[in-house]
Amino acid sequence: MLVIENITKVYDNGFVALKGINLEIPDGQFVAIIGLSGSGKSTLLRCINRLIEPTSGRIIWNGVDVTAASDEELRLIRRRIGMIFQQFNLVKRSSVLNNVMSGRLGYVNPLFSLVNHFPGQERKRAMAALERVGIADKAHNRAGNLSGGQQQRVGIARALMQDPELMLADEPVASLDPATSHSVMKYLQELNKQDGISILCSLHFLSLARAYADRVIALKDGKLEFDGLPKDIDEDRFRQIYGEDAVQVEIH
Ligand code: ADP
Ligand code: MG
Repeated sequence: MLVIENITKVYDNGFVALKGINLEIPDGQFVAIIGLSGSGKSTLLRCINRLIEPTSGRIIWNGVDVTAASDEELRLIRRRIGMIFQQFNLVKRSSVLNNVMSGRLGYVNPLFSLVNHFPGQERKRAMAALERVGIADKAHNRAGNLSGGQQQRVGIARALMQDPELMLADEPVASLDPATSHSVMKYLQELNKQDGISILCSLHFLSLARAYADRVIALKDGKLEFDGLPKDIDEDRFRQIYGEDAVQVEIH
C-alpha cells in the first residue's frame, strides 16, 4: 500500500506544483495519472521515490515513511521501485543487455558495472527480463539502434531487474505512435496482472487510461481534480479536467 499524505511541492522559485495531494493506492492497482501539461504529474511521480523532495507531507510505502528515510533506507526503498521514462533514458551506445543489467545496480557490487562484467546469473536474469518484453533477440544490439517502442521495452526490462513491487511510469508512451503505445502498455498490463506489480503511470490520452487503468487520478494546477473509475469520466468531467476548449482525442 502506498499512502500519499498531504503532499505539497514548492519549487525553489516559489512555484507551487503540488497542493496537498492525498491518495491511498492499494497493492496491485494500475493507476493512470492524467492532466494537462504542467498539472504536476511528473512532480508527483518523482516525489514518491524522492527524486524530487516534497516540501511537506508524507509518503508511506508498505508502512515505511519514505519521506523520513535515511540515505541507506532510501536506497533499499528505491531498489523496489522501478521507473520508466518518456525518453527511455537508455545509454544509447551501450548494448541492450548492458542497459538491462544496469537496472540491477542497487543489488550487485557497483564495481562489476564499471568493467561491464556482471556475474553470469545477472546475465541470465537480464535475458529473462528481455524475454518478458519480447526482445531477447536484440540483446546484443546497440540500444540506440532500436525503434522507440523497442527502446521502451528495454526500459521496462531494466526496471524489472529491480524486482519491483511498484513501477512509476512517467508518460511512457508519449513519444510513441498509437499502435506502438498499445504494445508497450500491454507489457505494463501483463506485469501488473501476472506479477502483481502496482503501476502508477502518467498518460496523455484518456483513451489509454480507459483501456488499461483500474483507476484514474486527474491533476489540475497541482490539485487532485478526480479520483475514480475510468468509466466515470464523462464529457463534463473531461472538460473539468482539461478545460472548456479541450477536444477529446481518441486513439484505438
Ligand atoms: P506535468 O508532468 O504534469 O507536465 P510537472 O510536474 O512537470 O507537470 O510540472 C508542474 C509545474 O511545475 C509546471 O508548471 C512546471 O513548469 C513547474 N516546474 C517543474 N519543475 C520545476 C522546477 N524545477 N522549478 C520550478 N518550476 C518547476
Ligand atoms: Mg511530466
